[in-house]
Amino acid sequence: MTDSPAPAGSPARTGRTAIVSGAARGIGAATARRLAADGHAVAVLDLDAAHCAETVAAIEADGGRALAVGADVADASAVDAAVATVVERLGAPTILVNNAGILRDNLIFKMTEGDWDAVLGVHLRGAFLMTRAVQKHQVEAGWGRIVNLSSTSALGNRGQANYSAAKAGMQGFTKTLAIELGRFGVTANAIAPGFIATDMLRETAERMHLTFEEFLEGAAKEIPVGRVGQPEDVAAAASFFCSEAASFVSGQVLYVAGGPKA
Ligand code: NAP
Repeated sequence: MTDSPAPAGSPARTGRTAIVSGAARGIGAATARRLAADGHAVAVLDLDAAHCAETVAAIEADGGRALAVGADVADASAVDAAVATVVERLGAPTILVNNAGILRDNLIFKMTEGDWDAVLGVHLRGAFLMTRAVQKHQVEAGWGRIVNLSSTSALGNRGQANYSAAKAGMQGFTKTLAIELGRFGVTANAIAPGFIATDMLRETAERMHLTFEEFLEGAAKEIPVGRVGQPEDVAAAASFFCSEAASFVSGQVLYVAGGPKA
């Protein structure tokens, strides 16, 4: 619970309310757990509330406070209803991590309109709808933190015309939020992860006819620090951007990729 004492060595508990989208698993789950450990009540939002049970249980087992919320981030009325539920059950949200994401990889000549629309819909439209619904509470509070998940694919990646466009778009979106909302005490930053070992990449491994382990091993050889990333590596960056200490850091893109390049 937010009113229980902070574990030794952890940052001071601030008791804000956070929403992390796509938090049933992967980077979102690790970020939700990290923000809860930082002292925030966390709405664990994903397509299906039932899929959020594991993340919520992990947060509660660590002494934190969490709520499972089901919503499709690309659906405006579902987003508005989800944010209203969070306000009622956890309090007005002032931290938002736009993390929900999907892949529909294909070379451009095979990419369907459905592949394009689905990816742009979840990443960009989803981040827009969530942010529009949450910024009202941030502006009212005079304090807010927005963290958007971009990717090294924003720099271009074969087979990902849709995804790279969405992830580059997230960077422009972030910078504009920083400019518009800064005067209200709200910062907006983007994290651009490199290769992070999550379920999202399992289908990529399958498409390349590799086992997940072979895929991870091959990727690690190309990364300067000699390993693939873990969801907790991204969660640590999100924790910083959401902290009180980061109030003068806004409109930035932090590549969390084990090296300087994608
Ligand atoms: P993941 O394991 O696939 O998790 C993504 C989560 O988002 C899933 O729980 C998924 O739910 C949920 N989601 C999908 N569509 C949604 C929607 N319309 N509304 C609400 N929730 C939705 O992915 P991840 O690897 O943790 O990635 C998280 C974010 O980091 C994504 O934005 C991704 O693009 C970005 N990223 C990842 C990597 C990487 O290497 N893994 C690198 C760079 C950037 P379902 O399971 O029900 O579909």
